[in-house]
Amino acid sequence: MVRNEAALAEILDSIQRFVRERLVPAEIAVDREARIPGDIVAELGAMGLAGLALPEAFGGSGLTVEEKIRVVIAMAWTSPAFYRRFSSNDGAGFALQHYGSEEQKARWLPELAAGRITGAFALTEPGAGSDAGAIRTSARREGDDYVLNGEKRFITNAPHADLVLVTARTDPAEAGARGVSTFLVEGDRPGLGRGPADEKMGLNGNDTGDLLFEDCRIPAANLVGREGEGFAIVMRRLDIVRVEAAATAVGNAERLIRESLDFAQAREQFGRPIADYQLIQAMLADSRAEAYAARCMVLDTARRLDDGAAAGTEAACCKLFATEMVARVADRAVQIQGGTGFMRGSAVERFYRDVRIYRIYDGTNQIQQLLIARNMLREARDETGRG
Ligand SMILES: Cc1cc2nc3c(=O)[nH]c(=O)nc-3n(C[C@H](O)[C@H](O)[C@H](O)COP(=O)(O)OP(=O)(O)OC[C@H]3O[C@@H](n4cnc5c(N)ncnc54)[C@H](O)[C@@H]3O)c2cc1C
Repeated sequence: MVRNEAALAEILDSIQRFVRERLVPAEIAVDREARIPGDIVAELGAMGLAGLALPEAFGGSGLTVEEKIRVVIAMAWTSPAFYRRFSSNDGAGFALQHYGSEEQKARWLPELAAGRITGAFALTEPGAGSDAGAIRTSARREGDDYVLNGEKRFITNAPHADLVLVTARTDPAEAGARGVSTFLVEGDRPGLGRGPADEKMGLNGNDTGDLLFEDCRIPAANLVGREGEGFAIVMRRLDIVRVEAAATAVGNAERLIRESLDFAQAREQFGRPIADYQLIQAMLADSRAEAYAARCMVLDTARRLDDGAAAGTEAACCKLFATEMVARVADRAVQIQGGTGFMRGSAVERFYRDVRIYRIYDGTNQIQQLLIARNMLREARDETGRG
């Protein structure tokens, strides 16, 4: 749902200008140095990217899902590291918006929305990836406090997060999704340790790392929602997260297609631009068709989410299709550029590495397949009344 097409066009226009004039020229250095310069981080916050969907009353932009998705696609013209610098702010903010106390909202939402602080959302553990219900981090109640112990792995922005939303088991007698709660942990709490930034294949400049909780004491007021609601909080935003991952894939694919098209028209072999050869044209056409299909899927699902319709299957389809699509588009882009596309410093080589992660995080694509099939089978049983 777009509430005001003209207002959205203005936002998209300023983002597109910022991306092309400020971020694209910085992409190579960010990848090489695995670091976004401080002035760009500040500008990303000032652009409102940390609080796109957070309520206007708390300093966010209050965008609908469709509006936000269109911003995400526009941002994905450049390295995904830039948008992801503050994407956990929206995630942590979403949890606070829907489950937080009035004090928690007043204290943290304006800071998160303005990008004055960096948020992180810590679920994954060494023994709990796809099987998120296997988490072992514990939160033991002691008087007016909880005491946290455990380890979180691969957490986006962990090395520099100021505020961590962490899931921990409050009821050791329960297994799986039950008995899990969500807490706010301020970055300077004694007992919260951080590992070094992970060295990754791609997505350089967007740090991930371990968080270690060793008798980390937090006030009971830092519980978000009620005890045992931890998984409900995670699940509530999953559909949006998946559509966002797909939207990033769409934006990256559109940039890769532009890089491919420009190169194919400029590069001459056998006395003609390679764009004249039908085998090159076939690759361009396949990429365009697939990216267009994914764009339609993400916008349709975003509208469903705005309408409050159930869209779990559609969101998983978007994530599955768009993230596989962008891998094929990146592969063709490298192929079209030949040796040039294999060289460090070329945009297509960087995207080729960056997009690999989309099939892994936010639920691996195998998990999306399982989810889609499970929903299909349930719907089929409901239709036939069998089983
Ligand atoms: C760059 C990056 C950023 C991340 N950011 C965050 C973050 O901010 N917060 C956070 O909490 N986590 C984060 N993660 C963790 C991410 O969500 C997990 O890596 C992901 O859920 C997969 O878990 P895993 O790596 O343990 O793989 P595993 O779950 O061990 O999976 C390994 C393989 O087994 C397959 N598999 C697993 N179970 C099944 C099954 N039942 N059937 C078929 N195949 C199966 C998987 O699909 C995969 O191919 C991040 C990870 C990365 C790499």
